[in-house]
Amino acid sequence: MQLSSATYIALGTGRLRLTPPSATTGRGFTNLKFKIPNLKFKMLIFDCHLDISMNAMQWNRDVTRPLEEIRRREAHLTDFLDRGQGTVSLGEMRRGQIGLCVATLIGRCTSEKSPLRQLMAYESPEIAWSVTQGQLAWYRQMEDDGQMRQIRDLASLREHALLWQNDPPPDAPIGYIMSLEGADSILTPDHLQRSYDQGLRAIGLSHYGPGRYAGGTNSDTHLAPEGKRLLEEMERLGMIVDATHLNDESFWEVLENFGGAIWASHQNCRELVPGVRQFSDEQLRALIERGAVMGMALDNWMLVPDWSRGKSTPEGSGVTLSNAVDHIDHICQLAGSAQHCGIGTDLDGGFGREQCPTDLETIADLQKIPPMLAERGYSEEDIAGIMHGNWLQLLERAWAE
Ligand SMILES: [Zn+2]
Repeated sequence: MQLSSATYIALGTGRLRLTPPSATTGRGFTNLKFKIPNLKFKMLIFDCHLDISMNAMQWNRDVTRPLEEIRRREAHLTDFLDRGQGTVSLGEMRRGQIGLCVATLIGRCTSEKSPLRQLMAYESPEIAWSVTQGQLAWYRQMEDDGQMRQIRDLASLREHALLWQNDPPPDAPIGYIMSLEGADSILTPDHLQRSYDQGLRAIGLSHYGPGRYAGGTNSDTHLAPEGKRLLEEMERLGMIVDATHLNDESFWEVLENFGGAIWASHQNCRELVPGVRQFSDEQLRALIERGAVMGMALDNWMLVPDWSRGKSTPEGSGVTLSNAVDHIDHICQLAGSAQHCGIGTDLDGGFGREQCPTDLETIADLQKIPPMLAERGYSEEDIAGIMHGNWLQLLERAWAE
């Protein structure tokens, strides 16, 4: 079925209820300038960054089980800080109407030796490739079981978005677009083509540390000659570049050497949280000019300054989803519109409730964000864009024939 793109930014299930205007609170971009304290509605949410397969394969979490059970089964484990603190299960995604996501493959090969960053880092690209192929096998099994559905073209995207916008059945599959976080595992151009044929549609060239193709977070290396060739091939295939995790040097080199669609899947603002993991206003403006969308991450470390991993606590720091809305608003104010910001939570991407906003118990609590945006003066259309429409529009452009 052919749908106009306008269909997508229509509000989720039409359950929007407005109360009479009472106060002017927000700096929104369209007509809505009054407070809406009782705004209660659910809409389709598109989360642009979830390491779901990594949770299954490396954390040994069965995300098809209820979240309480997942937490209980690993409560005795001490190998990772976030044991027993997970926030994501496929059931919680359904409950929160997060029917579409970008789900990753992840496996690095880096010379960086910091113990924290050793996570998902392997001794050779061959090992990293094989790990990601194992993660893919899990997604395939989820597809066979009807739990997930891989989205790889506009027809499946439109059909799936429509399913989730209109009271989806309780067991509706979660749609996922496959992305690769860090390109180290792409051994050769042939492996890129194979990955594309498997449904891979986006790649972030680097992760933490110096990568084989580009410099990642906390490194000072540049885009490698192989990185330029990878970008050429990605452009030819119509793949999306994920700018998140590029260091500043590589960031500008990637923008210069790539003409295709770009997003920054889980990316907050350096102006609000100093540090190289966040992008500066200059970088964000350059991305906005390229039509990119930034996904707001819900890792407290990226939400507030001075978060200390393993020491700070959500309660002690008073971090709430409102801090994430600050980042959303910062990007919208930079852009002068609400069309370049989305959600890319990174939930359970190596952290859990111990490093999440206090008002997020599970991923289903993302539904608390729309009313918060409304309180700040964002219109229905803008909110729908932020919660899902902006990603859909970007994909419409990137995948247009
Ligand atoms: Zn990441």
